[in-house]
Amino acid sequence: MTPGRVLVVEDNDRNRKLVRTVLEHAGYEVVEAATGEQGVTCAAQVDPDLVLMDRQLPGIDGHDALSLLRDAVATRQVPVVAVTAFAMKGDETQALDEGFDGYIRKPISIRSLVDQVRGFLEAPAAGRETP
Ligand code: MN
Repeated sequence: MTPGRVLVVEDNDRNRKLVRTVLEHAGYEVVEAATGEQGVTCAAQVDPDLVLMDRQLPGIDGHDALSLLRDAVATRQVPVVAVTAFAMKGDETQALDEGFDGYIRKPISIRSLVDQVRGFLEAPAAGRETP
């Protein structure tokens, strides 16, 4: 039994593999998607416990992918955390305003990623109705 299944939606191969390596080392099951469209399809198929969503993606971006996840009955409850590369101050607040359950800053910290993921998995789903 793994501590959780994490869907990583990230177009950068290196970043995606880094997250996979770190989380798998900690026992998590990791599923990868390289585009927002793939991420939305994948989420409906694999029923992840947490989605880590890059905000800047080719095709639909992280925000649009989040909207699609929230619109679908199968995925509306899954916590979705923004992975944000924007250096601009206020971007994290914007991610929360957009409906993400939290954010992780890029560059990803190998040291704290597992703690961050554990925290998001343990956090109660705020702001969303239970079925
Ligand atoms: Mn990206």
